Amino acid sequence: MPETYSLYFHIPFCRHRCAYCDFNTYAGQEASIPRYIQALCAEIRLIGECRGRLKVGTIFFGGGTPSLLTAAQFDEILQKIYLYFDVDSQAEISLEANPGTVSPGSLTDLRAAGFNRISYGVQSANPEELRMLERIHSYREVIDAFKWSRRAGFDNLNMDLIYGLPGQGLESWQTTVKLVTGLGPEHISAYALTLEHGTPFGRWAARGLLTIPDPDMAATQYEWTTELLDSLGYGLYEISNWCQPGHECRHNLQYWRNLEYLGLGAGAHGYADGCRYSNVLRIKSYIDRLSNSSDDDIKFPLSPAAVNQHRNTARENMQETMLTGLRLTREGISATGFQNRYGTGLTSAFGKEIEKLTAVGLLEWSGDCLRLTVRGRLIGNQVFLEFVN
Ligand code: SF4
Repeated sequence: MPETYSLYFHIPFCRHRCAYCDFNTYAGQEASIPRYIQALCAEIRLIGECRGRLKVGTIFFGGGTPSLLTAAQFDEILQKIYLYFDVDSQAEISLEANPGTVSPGSLTDLRAAGFNRISYGVQSANPEELRMLERIHSYREVIDAFKWSRRAGFDNLNMDLIYGLPGQGLESWQTTVKLVTGLGPEHISAYALTLEHGTPFGRWAARGLLTIPDPDMAATQYEWTTELLDSLGYGLYEISNWCQPGHECRHNLQYWRNLEYLGLGAGAHGYADGCRYSNVLRIKSYIDRLSNSSDDDIKFPLSPAAVNQHRNTARENMQETMLTGLRLTREGISATGFQNRYGTGLTSAFGKEIEKLTAVGLLEWSGDCLRLTVRGRLIGNQVFLEFVN
């Protein structure tokens, strides 16, 4: 059993569904928020009681738009967490927020409730791109949210950006990155847009109504970003994440190190006791499952909301460690750590794959650590595939 768990809470409410989004989130269902919070509190109790106050190092509220909840509602959830889990006094407690949903007062209250990190969904500073993505906020609201967060006492802020947008040239992307870095957040995430099936973007692209993003432009944007951010003191520590020294997202590091976390809420995923699981997607089904449950329904880490579970084989655990650990561009995967964890050497488990990928310059050894090369980062998904066959 690990010493410290991470907790993820999914808040599946949004004011409007952005055109590119395929997350488990729903617009126009805010009336269900109070009942959803009751269900979430019930799930916290059921899971928390199973193992007797497990130690927790990070808590993350993601979505959806968690910032649609009030600080008082978060206070209720956090009090439940503190009651049933042993939360570290230095725990990282993060909130994903849409810049169009916060105010000076709400940020002050969120800080007082215990949050110490906010991750803002900024995506772009270009008004036309924000409109195309159907974001509900303007870049002016990003600036305000940032300023108010600082005043409220938040000294750990992330800005989420998206590059490789349809028709987006290098210059527009450069303007976004320069404006955002000008604000001085501690952490920046930048992901290339993917056109997901079932989203308006996916449908428009299939019907020829949307310019398909150019992968070469996206690669150029990524390389430029890494160079600029490096010169500004933001180190790349994961393929899509940069930070000032000491501001790595501790919650996400838990995922990338393939360590255990509990997922609570509709559609949340978790990994504990060698079991990967996910909860029912729909808000109503989630609420129903938690309100009709009894303590006998629990088999850790599964609550009554769990609808999928898979017990990993030893081989699958090792494969997942490769897939997530190689995303960590500096840290990579320690051969010693791998041996201690699995009782098998890294090269015994994946000798052929490692030899092939190092020979073509996609992986490299740095002392005890295996990691992606600069070229390997650009085609990380192809590298990862080698470890799952
Ligand atoms: S705000 Fe985020 S979660 Fe909500 S629809 Fe937009 S991209 Fe999806």
